Amino acid sequence: MTDASFPLVPGSTIGILGGGQLGRMLALAAARLGFDVVILDPEEGSPAGRVAARQIVAAYDDRWALKRLAEACDVVTYEFENVPADTVAELTALGCVVAPGAKALAAAQDRVVEKSFLAEIGVPTVAFAAVHDSDSLAAAVAKIGAPSLLKTRREGYDGKGQAWIQRAGDAEASFEKIGRQAAILEAPADFGRELSVIAARGRDGEIACYPLSENHHEGGVLKRTSAPARITPATRDQAETIAIKILTALDYVGVIGVELFELAGGKLLVNEFAPRVHNTGHWTQDGCEVDQFEQHIRAVAGWPLGPTQPLAHVEMTNLLGADVEAWKKLAGEPETRVHLYGKGEARPGRKMGHVNRLRPLKD
Ligand code: AMP
Repeated sequence: MTDASFPLVPGSTIGILGGGQLGRMLALAAARLGFDVVILDPEEGSPAGRVAARQIVAAYDDRWALKRLAEACDVVTYEFENVPADTVAELTALGCVVAPGAKALAAAQDRVVEKSFLAEIGVPTVAFAAVHDSDSLAAAVAKIGAPSLLKTRREGYDGKGQAWIQRAGDAEASFEKIGRQAAILEAPADFGRELSVIAARGRDGEIACYPLSENHHEGGVLKRTSAPARITPATRDQAETIAIKILTALDYVGVIGVELFELAGGKLLVNEFAPRVHNTGHWTQDGCEVDQFEQHIRAVAGWPLGPTQPLAHVEMTNLLGADVEAWKKLAGEPETRVHLYGKGEARPGRKMGHVNRLRPLKD
């Protein structure tokens, strides 16, 4: 274990929990800044492991693996928010600096904790109530009404673990549908658009926000992001104020993705935040001087944050499943940048890569 002192000098080692595409793009950005990366992922030859200096193949709660990771790394970060809390506690006990910290992870892992935290710091969300059994479900429906959306408190992503309650009488059936797990009941957000803001906070408390993006989902999964989104300065100010409140309250270090609902009058509500680089920030790879991946590495390494101004308008499209077979055609389009994740099997809906289509900002 190294006693981390920041800023980390080039040649230092950064650990990443998780070896998927986000870890891969973080590892590539870290390499560009002269860092070595060690990935911890249970899957041998993971997308990130194949571009990193080293991969430790082990479960996230494997104490021996965590000891090896802590010994090898000057700082550890993660690419997914469901890292077990005990893993972070163990790494911290071993003297390792983990960023973003345990508070951010705890808030992002549980939708009730997340929305309660947001309410506490004065960030608007939809009305919500916690559900854990039939009685609390009935009380929640009485409070929130119907239609309303029932979501599992933990481990839901890309629209999984969610069921609408159209009428109060449907509540039990919806609860069954999500496996009678501890849940949150949310009022419906009557949004016109889904936006997001990607922001970063450095070790010195400096904050930088990227321009907002407009996001389109298909079947609960992000399909397209367009950025910079067409928004008023007032909307930008609202989003940045929200991001600053969250980052400051969590004493956050790294990049965060904050998903927003834009209501008819322009008011923004937070849907959720991810304590990591975010799919709706992939446009920054070709649309900004310093992208979200380098920004995250800069932040966790204690470097100054980079500029976030846009250089181009970008439409990012996820390549899901067989979409990736179009790589050759896409690579031939001069305005398109292709990013592929090195995943073997193109299962339906699997995120295999993305493309950024550029056009000049003034268009
Ligand atoms: P989530 O897993 O919370 O990100 O939700 C996935 C998608 O479901 C969001 O991107 C929205 O399109 C939709 N959604 C989530 N929560 C609500 C809500 N309270 N009201 C309306 N739509 C929602």
